[in-house]
Amino acid sequence: MAKQPMLKFVSIEKEMPEKRDADQRREDFKEIYGEYAMNKARQQAGRCSQCGVPYCQSHCPLHNNIPDWLKLTAEGRLQEAYEVSQATNTFPEICGRICPQDRLCEGNCVIEQSGHGTVTIGSVEKYITDTAWEEGWVKPIKPAEERAESVAIIGAGPGGLAAADRLRRAGLQVTVYDRYDRAGGLMVYGIPGFKLEKDVVMRRNAQLEEGGVKFVLNCNVGEDITFDELREQHDFVLIATGVYKSRDLPAPGVGAKGIVRAIDYLTASNRIGFGDTVAEFESGELNAEGKRVVVIGGGDTAMDCVRTAIRQGATSVKCLYRRDRANMPGSQREVQNAEEEGVEFVWLSAPKGFTGGDTVEGVMVQKMRLGAPDATGRQSPEVIEGADYVEDADLVIKALGFEPEDLPSLWNVPGLEVTRWGTVKADFRTHETQIENVYAVGDIVRGASLVVWAIRDGREAADAILDKVMASATDVAAE
Ligand SMILES: Cc1cc2nc3c(=O)[nH]c(=O)nc-3n(C[C@H](O)[C@H](O)[C@H](O)COP(=O)(O)OP(=O)(O)OC[C@H]3O[C@@H](n4cnc5c(N)ncnc54)[C@H](O)[C@@H]3O)c2cc1C
Ligand code: SF4
Repeated sequence: MAKQPMLKFVSIEKEMPEKRDADQRREDFKEIYGEYAMNKARQQAGRCSQCGVPYCQSHCPLHNNIPDWLKLTAEGRLQEAYEVSQATNTFPEICGRICPQDRLCEGNCVIEQSGHGTVTIGSVEKYITDTAWEEGWVKPIKPAEERAESVAIIGAGPGGLAAADRLRRAGLQVTVYDRYDRAGGLMVYGIPGFKLEKDVVMRRNAQLEEGGVKFVLNCNVGEDITFDELREQHDFVLIATGVYKSRDLPAPGVGAKGIVRAIDYLTASNRIGFGDTVAEFESGELNAEGKRVVVIGGGDTAMDCVRTAIRQGATSVKCLYRRDRANMPGSQREVQNAEEEGVEFVWLSAPKGFTGGDTVEGVMVQKMRLGAPDATGRQSPEVIEGADYVEDADLVIKALGFEPEDLPSLWNVPGLEVTRWGTVKADFRTHETQIENVYAVGDIVRGASLVVWAIRDGREAADAILDKVMASATDVAAE
């Protein structure tokens, strides 16, 4: 039987400042849009041709049974649709909101391929699960039996929480440790509230806590508790820490005031959404209001920064990316959203340095063209000599991607093997690392990825742990 950790458990129920507003909002929504939304969902679901070659399903990382729940929705059998949808997805209402569907299910819908516009699968998934919450169809976590085995989960992002849900439903004792003060990982402090409302995540956190999952928040593993202590106190450890080391820009002037990291900027904005006081926001350091903003990068994080800056009241928002539109890593849908909101994209442009002294005044931009493809087949950007210019800026946000922290050193666990990119090595089916009974999932294994992949990993790792628990229980019974 596992020992109890000495750290304080934090109740997350009180951490729902938006709850009342959210309840009210939902009521208003139901009253005004209820029938309209239902009709729209049925109409969209009815567009599914039940083609028999469900590319949508095979391109969903969770292999959601999309054609079946679309058919049930079209027939108005929403509760059954919800049952089918939640069978393969722990957080369908979250995926429905923030999966880049144009690269996954919807991008592979045969109706889309035939030029008639995709069935809006994500919106239907969101609608049926939101309805399930309103109607009380979402089942609380009530294990049929309590078991003695315990699992420590390091990281309360989607990977850790999906595993926690599955393990706790099977009756295991689950404790989630996180260095933040709220559970949810990047779903809470990375992804902006206009894409994923925070009460949607906090509702899931509360469901887990009510179901017996313990949360130890404000706990930085490696500082407040060691990895070895967790191993002593629990039968299994699951690492789901994500990737947080921001890539930097080795350019002259990069240390000036007014040049900030995307994660700091987005975290501050999300905290403000929770009603927290954030000194760097109050001082203007992490606030775009009234500023000329330049965001550097072409991924989804950059898109979130530009769209947040628009909402904060920036006077202008430009996004610099060194390749062209067709070669950017971010979702095309997000680019379109950003453009519609007034963001200007400056393609084929790379920062060379920054003007101003202690405080940034502009970005020195080098114009690029696309040259020959590199080893991965992607065209490499090349500098166009003599085409440099300065883009004026009061706030520059670096959104150049994330790398893993060096966990073996930080946690003093040399046996935890990592790849040459620093991601943790784990079996791709069971997610077990080289250390027995230690598992790893999500971004810390894949590198910066998606919520839906973290959910898939978390579910699979939980299943592998449960297989082990059941196998050893069978062995004991046979002795
Ligand atoms: C700005 C931004 C926008 C994004 N938008 C989207 C989107 O629209 N759609 C999408 O699908 N994906 C999006 N992603 C990617 C997605 O958020 C991640 O792929 C996903 O959250 C990874 O889940 P995870 O569980 O592996 O890690 P995370 O969500 O990063 O959670 C890891 C948790 O571990 C905790 N932790 C880390 N180290 C320690 C430690 N030593 N001790 C204790 N706790 C620790 C962290 O505090 C964090 O809570 C976005 C990412 C960013 C940065
Ligand atoms: S989980 Fe994501 S990819 Fe899968 S059906 Fe839902 S929105 Fe599409």
